[in-house]
Amino acid sequence: MITLKGAAVSAKIKEQVDTLLTDLKGKTPKLAIVRIGERPDDLSYERGALKKMESFGLMGESFAFPQDITDEAFKEEFAKINENPDIDGILVLRPLPKQIKEKDIEHMIDPGKDLDGISPENIARVFAGDDTGFAPCTAEAVVEVLKANEIALTGKRVAIVGRSMVVGRPLSMLMLKENATVTICHTRTENLKETCKNAQILVAAAGRARMVDGSYVGKDAIVVDVGINVDKDGKLCGDVDFDSLEGTASMATPVPGGVGAVTTAVLARHLVSAALKK
Ligand code: NAD
Repeated sequence: MITLKGAAVSAKIKEQVDTLLTDLKGKTPKLAIVRIGERPDDLSYERGALKKMESFGLMGESFAFPQDITDEAFKEEFAKINENPDIDGILVLRPLPKQIKEKDIEHMIDPGKDLDGISPENIARVFAGDDTGFAPCTAEAVVEVLKANEIALTGKRVAIVGRSMVVGRPLSMLMLKENATVTICHTRTENLKETCKNAQILVAAAGRARMVDGSYVGKDAIVVDVGINVDKDGKLCGDVDFDSLEGTASMATPVPGGVGAVTTAVLARHLVSAALKK
């Protein structure tokens, strides 16, 4: 089984970013990461994203707010970031605390700065098969991993486990645009195992530690693991039981070291595109 490493894909995206940067004639794009509270997964994603911006020669700044900030106060602060001409792109770490009306933020964010495709305008573009906006970075990262490894999607049977607006749904649209035949699975799916086993490309985005093992995987299938979980021993792991795939899958992404590294590279590319479009 071949391990599809995220670092190699990220390096290819860096080359694209370098080319795009030459068109900016010396200007360095700036990312704003907006965070409320101190959730460990938010902090970890923020660290990874800031590190990636730095290694790609881009700027990044975190705007952190207290967990109990009111909806009104947060919107006031968010508007300032949204309207700041020195900021080219925004990533809002979600979910936001209950008191914040997340839908309002999705409507407020400038679609031109909305690097993670949360605004209705960007989502509509993804669902219309129009690639002039920004798709959610993780969904796009899955397609990047496959493309960078020269895995053709046309006509392929793809099964995606998970139907969230962050991963499963937008990914199904991006796959459809590549002419794949897509099945979206979720908690109510009957015969989940059989459906997954029938796929030539299986994407796990359920948020369930090591749920997908070799018995879900067809012979020579390609497995992409989007999950980021902490198991009962406190160890970082994906939705796929990687070791159990030996002998069934032909290729698979690991966790850590797979899709995650590509997600932040896609974020960097979106940032440069946003700066170029200004
Ligand atoms: P979510 O909880 O919003 O959605 C999970 C989806 O999986 C739901 O649609 C649900 O129906 C489905 N599901 C859950 N359990 C299932 C089961 N037993 N059988 C079938 N379907 C099931 O999660 P999300 O935000 O889409 O994230 C999914 C995973 O991806 C999480 O582990 C998350 O941490 C990870 N993630 C990774 C990145 C990255 O950069 N790699 C980015 C975002 C999310």
